[in-house]
Amino acid sequence: MEIMKYAIEGYRDVEALEYLGIFGNPIKHTLSPIIHNTISRNLNKNMRYIPFQITDNLGDAVKMAHDAGIVGLNITVPYKQQVMEYLVDIDEAAKVIGAVNTLVRCNKGYKGYNTDMYGLAKSLVSEGVKLEGAKVIMLGAGGAARAVAYMCLKYGADRVYIVNRTFENAKNIADDMNAAFDCDKIIPLSASDYYIIPNGRYIMIQCTSVGLHEGDGLPLISDESFFEKAEIGVDLIYNPAKTPFLKLVEENGGKAINGLGMLLHQGVKAYELWNDVEISEKLIKNIYKALCRVSYDNTDNIVLVGYMGCGKSTVGRFLSMACGYDFIDTDEIIEKREGMSTSDIFSNKGEEYFRKLETELLRELKGKLKNTVIATGGGMPVKEENRALLKELGKVFYLKASLDTTYQRVSGGTGRPLLDDLDGNSLYNKIKEMTAIRTPIYTEVADEIIDTNEISEYEVHKVIAASMSSYAKDVE
Ligand code: NDP
Repeated sequence: MEIMKYAIEGYRDVEALEYLGIFGNPIKHTLSPIIHNTISRNLNKNMRYIPFQITDNLGDAVKMAHDAGIVGLNITVPYKQQVMEYLVDIDEAAKVIGAVNTLVRCNKGYKGYNTDMYGLAKSLVSEGVKLEGAKVIMLGAGGAARAVAYMCLKYGADRVYIVNRTFENAKNIADDMNAAFDCDKIIPLSASDYYIIPNGRYIMIQCTSVGLHEGDGLPLISDESFFEKAEIGVDLIYNPAKTPFLKLVEENGGKAINGLGMLLHQGVKAYELWNDVEISEKLIKNIYKALCRVSYDNTDNIVLVGYMGCGKSTVGRFLSMACGYDFIDTDEIIEKREGMSTSDIFSNKGEEYFRKLETELLRELKGKLKNTVIATGGGMPVKEENRALLKELGKVFYLKASLDTTYQRVSGGTGRPLLDDLDGNSLYNKIKEMTAIRTPIYTEVADEIIDTNEISEYEVHKVIAASMSSYAKDVE
């Protein structure tokens, strides 16, 4: 599939019966694969979700995706408006909002929807927040704010103030939405006019990007007493989990809701549109837990150790897709840096030199990785210092295989340095000798041992993901 040239690293070789994906730039840190791949696995669908980094020629990429049979796409920054030019149809709500984040395949192209609006509405319902008859203050008037303003009117808000740095942008949204709903409930204000808003308790929805970065303060208005109006504070930002705005809302006794629920529910709605299914509440809750863990727990790296041929790289790539983790392979990093294969490093510079590079690499990675799967070289844990470093890096899984299984897996000729030029009995005996030494070492370093003899690499990744509790299981 030509479109695969845009897939980000770790996803290019994914094979499935059907594909979903997301277009954006940048796209590397998207959490969406967690949502969609988890749902597919729970529904036993052979359907995989791929992040595509589209830097230009959006129209060509949309066509390529359709030619490749891709069932559905999400669209994110910076293409939510631009993509509308390349669709065969657009849902009425998305037209009014003026942005599309979901493409559903039809005969001659894709139809565009906006599930952001639905995502926030569902997130508010699940938090027990009612929009009907509510008074709302929106801070910000960018692309996401358009969907929020639409949502407020659609779900019956009584009055909505949009406060923005650039008054014109707030006015444009107010004019468009008031016209679409034939009302005058939305009132645009520039930030300096905030005092015009009458006293009372409001649902305050923070739609600016202020709060995303460390050191950011309150959005738009520095007068802290203004935020006492927020009975409920909603921030579209989900990372950090609590922005200065949400912290202040809580200090004032209000309820604080961040944007992770919106992200979750826009994704679930998109999946439902793509597949004409309804996702159970239980599965949705489990995905939410996985998103929380990946977003807010920075320490959970997965380290894979084991003898050559045990499937570390393949399992690592599956895990990276299922959990939205980054993936690194220590052998690949060393090969790239040295400009030669592991076998060539062994034969030209010796095993000791290679082991030294491994230790240096581990020292370098210490403390720098987050949410990453690390596939290690087979001999890496042999050095005691490496074992300590591996344990510091993350949770260590030993992918264990019997002597016979290992022999079968590596006997096809694999370019592995310590087994080169061996065949038949001598290969079997060499593996026997090496596994006798290494098995206790792998066992010592492992936090968990996975027996891989009877199960495929695909199944191994499921066992590990479940163990990390990042993998939502719907046991209904
Ligand atoms: P846009 O770039 O379209 O809009 C940004 C908004 O923030 C504008 O109102 C802009 O004001 C305002 N703004 C930016 N910088 C400042 C500043 N320094 N001071 C005051 N105002 C500022 O972004 P989006 O609307 O697409 O996204 C907004 C936020 O919502 C982002 O943080 C994004 O991550 C989040 N989001 C979350 C989603 C979720 O699923 N949880 C989904 C979509 C977005 P002005 O008009 O004056 O330029």
